[in-house]
Amino acid sequence: MKINDNFLKIESSYLFSTVAKKQRAYQAAHPEADVIRLSIGDVTRPLAPAVIDAMHKAVDEMACEATFRGYPPEYGYDFILEAIQKNDYTDRGIDIAKDEIFLSDGAKSDCGNIGDIFSVDNKVAICDPVYPVYIDTNIMAGRSGDKDENGLWSNIIYMPCTAENNFTPDLPSEVPDVIYLCFPNNPTGMVATKEQLKKWVDYALEHKSLILFDSAYESFVVEEGIPKSIYEIEGAKKCAIELRSFSKTAGFTGMRCGYTVVPKELEFEGTSLNPLWARRQATKFNGVSYITQRAAEAIYSEEGKKQIKETLAYYQNNAKIIFEGLKDAGFECYGGVNSPYVWLRVPQGYTSWEFFDELLEKCQVVGTPGSGFGPAGEGYFRLTAFGSTEKTIEAIERIKSVYKK
Ligand SMILES: *Cc1c(COP(=O)(O)O)cnc(C)c1O
Repeated sequence: MKINDNFLKIESSYLFSTVAKKQRAYQAAHPEADVIRLSIGDVTRPLAPAVIDAMHKAVDEMACEATFRGYPPEYGYDFILEAIQKNDYTDRGIDIAKDEIFLSDGAKSDCGNIGDIFSVDNKVAICDPVYPVYIDTNIMAGRSGDKDENGLWSNIIYMPCTAENNFTPDLPSEVPDVIYLCFPNNPTGMVATKEQLKKWVDYALEHKSLILFDSAYESFVVEEGIPKSIYEIEGAKKCAIELRSFSKTAGFTGMRCGYTVVPKELEFEGTSLNPLWARRQATKFNGVSYITQRAAEAIYSEEGKKQIKETLAYYQNNAKIIFEGLKDAGFECYGGVNSPYVWLRVPQGYTSWEFFDELLEKCQVVGTPGSGFGPAGEGYFRLTAFGSTEKTIEAIERIKSVYKK
């Protein structure tokens, strides 16, 4: 038997393990220090009461012969697909059919699995810095080529996102088959306007490329004119798949639920992708638990909507505290408005990791070095709004006391 040796090309997550290791070492050397983690990319607030109630009810149904449920439909129960269709699309003026929506256990799985339906010969374009899953899943599939001395993969088209292009990628000079876009972005916290997304949709249509649009952070969008869905752009149904998640929207990181939209009009080489994805899911996935689907449905109830909005407002307030505090301290910073992430430029003369060390040493604050998300992230640093407000305020006060001139 031969293994898939593409797996040997992947490095274990150097970024987050190194962050954790450095934090542990500091804490061991300074047991009295109150270290504040603004590095977490995970939610911390409890689930909405409407979600909890819906789960209790679903558990009781599973306990009773008359209402017990076995295998769920592969693509989701009608009640959740209809709630998604109505609230996320129809009510926003977007026409998406119920059988174009595929419920799943989250956007990370779909993001990796979607590659099953396209050829290993496709060339993918990926933003730099980036959510590492897009790269690693393509390495596993054999689409990456080899790594050069700068840590770049020979067969991947990199699209740098820096302050110079306002963190939205320029159209690549080489035409990719598949383009990964994520807005609002992790790690930069920046967004794409309707015009910017339209440029990408037009490009994909012209060159017959597929866009994989990750909108895991759409619920953080507060500004007018910033699309929450790629399908707000005309023509997108002919060139884009959208990945959605309840993780950041409703605190579902531990619940596991998301969905992917594959429009029926999406056709390549005369084949519609929708039935291919349907086949892939029906073959390799047995659906999301009934209890979780009822929990997800509750997000769309009147009280559910109100409750998750309150939690989002909590994180948004933290993001504002970080963003304004850092600006006041003299940092150049980005994101934080339509996003739980603030992306800052480290002081001149520092690398991302050098700034990490100094911030830990002088402020007892942990963030994430931008270089860990890709070479173009060097010189930047990510702080997240998922902590408690009290700790966030404390962290920013410490940063100001050290860096404010
Ligand atoms: C958190 C996150 C997701 C969500 O993944 P789930 O598997 O649904 O929890 C997707 N994409 C990005 C960029 C993320 O940061």
